[in-house]
Amino acid sequence: MQGVVFLGDRRLELREFPDPTPGPGEVVLAIRASGMCGSDLHAYRAPRGGDSAAALGLGGGGAAVIAGHEPCGVVAARGPGVPERLAPTGARVMNHHYRGCGACRHCRLGWSQLCPHGIVVYGVTGHGGHAPYMLAPAGSLVPLPDELSFEEGAAIACGTGTAYQALLRLDVSGRDTLAVFGQGPVGLSATLLATAMGARVVAVDPVPERRGLARELGAEAVVDPRRDEPAAALRELTAGEGVDAALDCTGQAEARLAAVRSARTWGRVCFVGEGGTATFEVSPDLLRRQLTIHGSWTFSTVIQGECARFVVRRRVPLARLITHRFRLEQAAEAYRLFDTQTTGKGVFLV
Ligand SMILES: [Zn+2]
Ligand SMILES: [Zn+2]
Repeated sequence: MQGVVFLGDRRLELREFPDPTPGPGEVVLAIRASGMCGSDLHAYRAPRGGDSAAALGLGGGGAAVIAGHEPCGVVAARGPGVPERLAPTGARVMNHHYRGCGACRHCRLGWSQLCPHGIVVYGVTGHGGHAPYMLAPAGSLVPLPDELSFEEGAAIACGTGTAYQALLRLDVSGRDTLAVFGQGPVGLSATLLATAMGARVVAVDPVPERRGLARELGAEAVVDPRRDEPAAALRELTAGEGVDAALDCTGQAEARLAAVRSARTWGRVCFVGEGGTATFEVSPDLLRRQLTIHGSWTFSTVIQGECARFVVRRRVPLARLITHRFRLEQAAEAYRLFDTQTTGKGVFLV
């Protein structure tokens, strides 16, 4: 089979790999959809293939791996020791794109990415979903509800699930005005999901097309940070108080500072965008205003399944997030576009 490999410096290739065979406890997925996530751009833009995993604190020896950490498909084969009820042949599933030791507290809770004994991140330090087949631990499968498409499942497998968990961390409800900084695939997902949770969403993004899509997906108001200072604009939209909760999906220091400064006294802030740094003045920005700041990294297997059911039950129009569909043969074109054109989400249909 052929899989997409990032070579670094905005280059990639379709490379030949042997078809995977499942070992003990493993399954092979036939991939149907494999999403493009914002964090893939770190790998795509890194000077050398594999460098970005180290930059994001994910380890990895820089070996070439098949990209794609939003895998969704059907069970094609089971390895020794995997009971059929755990992974029935043909079952529609998402992959929770990590492998841990399987035995520690975090792994047992479905948070294998927090395993202290070393992890594999599929699509980053292990072969991912940008290929016809993928090997995964049986325990990393999350059922895809029949009501959802494979491409929606792919979105939930990282970007949308990440937004969902961040909103859980922020405890967002219908009582809140929530500012979402950055309207890429994660930020737009947050706008969709928080709207379904009842929150009043204000979307902050410098790109007019992204602000337009955010409005279509439920944002009540939008802020252009190039025109208006966001903290001041958000204060104006909340009778001078500031927002109840703010979510940074940009990874940019400037936006993180604005998120902190836009929150009201006793407000909550969550950082979900990867990489970079943040600088704020602790006393005036945090202490005097009794802020709570969360860092949030993706989600557990259990929350991934919960997110999928939430999308079904609340009829979240997640399909509208997906604006670009590609074949794997179009990977070079797809990532070139994704690197520059910045509205909506791209998915490979395999
Ligand atoms: Zn573990
Ligand atoms: Zn991701």
